[in-house]
Amino acid sequence: MSELETKQFSCGIPGTDSGFIKLGHGSGGKMTAELIEDLFLKKLSDPTLEEMDDAAVVSAGGSSIAITTDSYVVNPVFFPGGDIGSLSVHGTVNDLAVRGARPLYLTATFILEEGLPLTDLGKIVESVNAACRKAEVRLVAGDTKVVNRGAADRLFITTTGVGILESDPPPGAARVKPGDRVIVSGNLGLHGMAVMCAREGLELETEITSDSAALNGLVSAMLEKSPNISCMRDLTRGGLASAVNEIAVTSRTGIELSEGSIPVHPQVKAACELLGLDPLYVACEGRLIAFVPESSADCLLEAMRSHPLGADACLIGRVADDHKGRVVLKSRVGGRRILDRLSGEQLPRIC
Ligand code: MG
Repeated sequence: MSELETKQFSCGIPGTDSGFIKLGHGSGGKMTAELIEDLFLKKLSDPTLEEMDDAAVVSAGGSSIAITTDSYVVNPVFFPGGDIGSLSVHGTVNDLAVRGARPLYLTATFILEEGLPLTDLGKIVESVNAACRKAEVRLVAGDTKVVNRGAADRLFITTTGVGILESDPPPGAARVKPGDRVIVSGNLGLHGMAVMCAREGLELETEITSDSAALNGLVSAMLEKSPNISCMRDLTRGGLASAVNEIAVTSRTGIELSEGSIPVHPQVKAACELLGLDPLYVACEGRLIAFVPESSADCLLEAMRSHPLGADACLIGRVADDHKGRVVLKSRVGGRRILDRLSGEQLPRIC
């Protein structure tokens, strides 16, 4: 790239001043949002793409379908509670489910590094198959590519998912309104810290196991009892803080969370303190948040707690009509502070 081209590329894109991609562009925080808004959305202009929800809802042959795609680059590829194979199914199934779609079909692309042990690949493909069966989705198309040693790290997987819409209108960030209550399905940060501890060889008293799971069964039970859910999000890259920030911006509302109500596993809290991390930004792969009108909040909580993946669901906040586009965290002692987007990268290659 010439010097002139480098300058043109970096122009107006904060965080890309150097003209090159940095790890922070993959954080799910400020740098990711700026890259998407200032480069991808400008060059790939499309009204559905611009909605920026977890899956796109489009019409096909008279039906409404949801479609989404995601790549998985987690390091290490095997971690307590899962591996890159099960993760690549759960993440894509969950992105369809939180749009109110029943996940039906997946495709998978495997990018393999020369030298990857075939036994590892076999285990990962078996794990993909087991996760698909458990989530009741079919993997119906795939692709494999092999790159030179060093051009990838063992393997990367991209999955694309299609589902049929079962909720009309679909839950989405634009439907969130003042007065809605915010509910989280369980404790935060197990996935991110399980991967981090495995990567760094951290030995804790009790091993942290990833929460990675397909949430489509939980979401079906939720929509059956509360069809008026405004919005759902699975709490992946960037954790709870990033998801609520995205929703506050899209819905142009203010979101208030009570710090004391947000459930964090004690082992996650301890590991985060050790590593200097904030659990509110740590990824989960089997947790979601739901925004629902106040009148339906109790009914929804009851439905969630009746499902094994929502047993620890709790109310953590509300949507206000002031401080639009911002998330405010109310501390245990009554203080208030802005819970901002991540400005750099906290945990690279966690999903
Ligand atoms: Mg998602």
